[in-house]
Amino acid sequence: MSTIKCIGILTSGGDAPGMNAAIRAVTRSAIYNGMTVKGIYRGYKGLITGEIEEFKTQNVSNIIQRGGTILKTARCMEFKTPEGRQEAHNTLVREGIDALVTIGGDGTLTGARIFAQEFNYPVVGLPGTIDNDLFGTDVTIGYDTALNTIMECVDKIRDTASSHDRLFFIEVMGRDAGFLALNGALASGAEAAIIPEISLEKDQLSDMIEFGLRKSKNSSIVLVAESEVTGGAIGVAERVKKEYPEFDVRVTILGHLQRGGSPSAQDRIMATRMGVAAIDALLEDQRNVMIGIQNEQIVYVPFSKAIKNDKPINRDLLNTLRITSI
Ligand code: ADP
Repeated sequence: MSTIKCIGILTSGGDAPGMNAAIRAVTRSAIYNGMTVKGIYRGYKGLITGEIEEFKTQNVSNIIQRGGTILKTARCMEFKTPEGRQEAHNTLVREGIDALVTIGGDGTLTGARIFAQEFNYPVVGLPGTIDNDLFGTDVTIGYDTALNTIMECVDKIRDTASSHDRLFFIEVMGRDAGFLALNGALASGAEAAIIPEISLEKDQLSDMIEFGLRKSKNSSIVLVAESEVTGGAIGVAERVKKEYPEFDVRVTILGHLQRGGSPSAQDRIMATRMGVAAIDALLEDQRNVMIGIQNEQIVYVPFSKAIKNDKPINRDLLNTLRITSI
């Protein structure tokens, strides 16, 4: 029998579509298993300030289809300090919360890991980020929806790109991970993707132009992951203006619209499965693990692995993109 009677749930860092579906599943599964649930608002900030409300099953009604997070999210510098984490722990003790479920990206899970170790406190994480950059899970909550949003945007930009014979650089999110750029390019039939994983290995721009971009086409679309190394779409476009002035270049930065919208069926289903699995994990006395899905199966991934290891991108896809772009 687990000793956990009351769980707290929070969303932190960047919001992602499907977080609400996860909140719903965690809440209902916990109640189903006889636990009390407390919703913590604004991530770790709400843990420090005590912005907490008991959640009944109706608190999570009618949210599965909504983007964003009903629990709100925040970045909280205080939680990075031992004093801030002590405050957070005091709140948990005061509220009678025995375990935490945190939903967020790399930063959120890093904070969770430090906190769990410091106070020997049970924490289970769910991977909630559109970037898909957490190791140990095939996909993260929000990634599929963001990918579909990108595809729809690129389809629209293509209409104008092909009307004007232009070279479009479209910047997508993923500072250190090219999943959205590469798969977004494949899904939208873009000519190329410029991704962070190989930006130090080769000059992707000159490679792309030398390969023969434009030989047979009048317009081209290239997806560029935001990146400090390449300078993102603006950085790449500036280089083209200097080095290949024959191109008529345009830049679109998709920005925050990539985070919004109603979650896809896949994200809702995955978030629901992961939310239920988070409670199963706590019942099995698991702690300091992220719930992942590998080959359709739920897995428990130690925080240390999920955070530290770089999730590899499938490089075969670069070749697939190249072959299909001629
Ligand atoms: P994401 O979870 O989307 O990667 P952030 O990187 O902004 O987003 O992290 C979210 C929050 O997690 C931070 O605002 C902070 O409260 C907490 N966090 C991140 N890194 C650490 C850390 N090294 N120590 C403690 N808390 C952290």
